[in-house]
Amino acid sequence: MSTPHPLITLAHGLALLIALYAAPTHAADYIGPLFDTHLHYNLEAQTEHPMSDVLARMKSSGVKAIVANSRPNEGTKALASATTQTKVAGVTVVPFVRLYRNREDYNSWYKDETIYDMVLTELAQGTPAGPYKGIGEFHLYDSANAKGAVAKKLMALADEKGLAVLAHVDDAAIDLLMANTPSKGQKTKLIWAHTGIGGVSVARVRELMRRYPLLTGELSYRPGLTCGAGQLCPEWRTLLLEMPTRFVLGSDTWINQRWQSYEALMQGYRTWLGELQKETADRIAWGNAAALLGIK
Ligand SMILES: [Zn+2]
Repeated sequence: MSTPHPLITLAHGLALLIALYAAPTHAADYIGPLFDTHLHYNLEAQTEHPMSDVLARMKSSGVKAIVANSRPNEGTKALASATTQTKVAGVTVVPFVRLYRNREDYNSWYKDETIYDMVLTELAQGTPAGPYKGIGEFHLYDSANAKGAVAKKLMALADEKGLAVLAHVDDAAIDLLMANTPSKGQKTKLIWAHTGIGGVSVARVRELMRRYPLLTGELSYRPGLTCGAGQLCPEWRTLLLEMPTRFVLGSDTWINQRWQSYEALMQGYRTWLGELQKETADRIAWGNAAALLGIK
């Protein structure tokens, strides 16, 4: 084994140093407040993750407001009724009426008149945290079901009352749901859960965002959003910078596993938010949801 010439060693060392300093610096994580716009506190979560546990997870994640909805609505009401605990945790609860009493309702809500009646009853009752500000999350596994009688009535109701709608649907269903509103989607506060979980193209997302001024993209589970070590993929970064007022964040705690990784999910958002200008990061993390839902 031969010893390298000292000059070669020196050159090698210098090259390493230059590479180190020339490499793009890792942006600091976003440290401001987060608004979790897609949170479920479902029946099965309530035993494994009692109120104190879920609020502690929000607090340690810097989550200062949540859209609360659950199957059945009792979980939402539990969060909305825990006014002292949520105040101590520094969490504002924004209740939404969910359309599901049980798992069977996922597949038939769009044509079930008893769901419509339940929504009206819930809206009339409100919660200790204030009136319901939206309906959903609901799913449409077949976008054609957006034409169901109850789906149509609920979209019209949301539009008339200025309620937000949290919908897990494909891009075709966005057009169909918007067509059911009196404003034809021009005044409809539709929060698009996952912004196309099937991986609809960025070009199509952009097209729908331009067509409907209050359509808002929620980014949990969005395929293609991040690349590598959790950084934004280039075409998504471009879209977020182009439309900084149109996207929000969520945990989607649809199963208990999501509660177990709640802090990590929120840290994932903080990582890529840190790549953006502070003003843009503030909007996506908090401001867009706060403006849409009327929270200070
Ligand atoms: Zn969900």
